Amino acid sequence: MDVVSEPSATGTAARPRPEAHRVRAEIDLAALRANVRALRERAAGTGAGLMAVVKADAYGHGMVPCARAARRAGADWLGTATPEEALALRAAGDRGRLLCWLWTPGGPWREAIEADVDVSASDPWALGEITAAARARGRTARVHLKADTGLGRGGCQPAGWEALTAAARAAEAEGTVKVTGVWSHFACADEPGHPSIAAQLAAFREALATAARAGLDPEVRHIANSPATLTLPEAHFDLVRTGVSVYGLSPSPEVGVPADFGLRPVMTLRARLALVKRVPAGHGVSYGHHYTTPGETTLALVPAGYADGVPRHASGGGPVLVAGKWRTVAGRVAMDQFVVDLGGDAAAEGDEAVLFGPGDAGEPTAEDWARAVGTIGYEIVTRIGARVPRVHLNAEA
Ligand SMILES: *Cc1c(COP(=O)(O)O)cnc(C)c1O
Repeated sequence: MDVVSEPSATGTAARPRPEAHRVRAEIDLAALRANVRALRERAAGTGAGLMAVVKADAYGHGMVPCARAARRAGADWLGTATPEEALALRAAGDRGRLLCWLWTPGGPWREAIEADVDVSASDPWALGEITAAARARGRTARVHLKADTGLGRGGCQPAGWEALTAAARAAEAEGTVKVTGVWSHFACADEPGHPSIAAQLAAFREALATAARAGLDPEVRHIANSPATLTLPEAHFDLVRTGVSVYGLSPSPEVGVPADFGLRPVMTLRARLALVKRVPAGHGVSYGHHYTTPGETTLALVPAGYADGVPRHASGGGPVLVAGKWRTVAGRVAMDQFVVDLGGDAAAEGDEAVLFGPGDAGEPTAEDWARAVGTIGYEIVTRIGARVPRVHLNAEA
């Protein structure tokens, strides 16, 4: 069963067949399920469970269908950044264990507690809002306490950790809270061997010991993201939190390529040529005329631009498979379109341009785009625009 998620602005009146879309992101749910199974097996090797991270619309792949596929492939937990994402999963019928960690004061704690979402606290302000919401709701909140073991982003600094764990223990005694998790996050796991990795592991063990001394007995202790899951078994603890690897991308070239870990990229971004035309030598191409045709040639218009997530930094550098060959974006990427120079080759309107995919049909990968524009594969897939339909292939009935 294939499912097309239309961008909201399109409405239902003028819905083209999937293969007739101007541009579309095909999401191979069979590949996603196989990735989840491979990661789950890797985690099981150390006795850990698997959380599939589906924040940011499942890294641009469409949250609800991807969450469903991940559950079906055995993900023990789902993870989101925001409570809104977690509540959207519940509204779509998701019922398993679910953690969300990015909270701001006044957030929807009551709704999350009511929806059986595990929440996270890095600081007494959050624990205070959680206990207040739990009391008001007459229900025990499930809380993961987050330690800053060196990332310097979220999490509680070591200086405040003893007090935070003691306050959480007091809330447990009162019945408003159950500390189900103690967790942290790596800064440099995508650079295997980086000295901060061992330092963070030691700090995490210290934080766990402090929590135990406070009388906490969490169900899951977790710190591993995708790179740590793939390269650092001693960091698995009870649960690994994998995001980018679920979508078949490697966290970084230093970690390896997806195939090294039995992973396959899930998203293929395809467009259909809107125009193919002959132009004379010396013709400027696209805004600013940063490309000029070196001779009489054929130009092809690819109807996808930065509004669709094609980075403007890919101007003059982004790779795309058209008419059987890798081409490079000629001149600037515009909001809705860019041009490629086909040289002496032929193509026709409606022919396919593949921006990226798994790479085994000769197309570039998201990693190739990341290299071309100086970013990471994560950003390439996550920034695909809201007006690009996600076509979910191979959904299980
Ligand atoms: C995004 C995120 C992850 C997943 O990271 P990947 O490198 O994509 O596996 C895990 N934990 C937290 C806290 C995150 O924000």
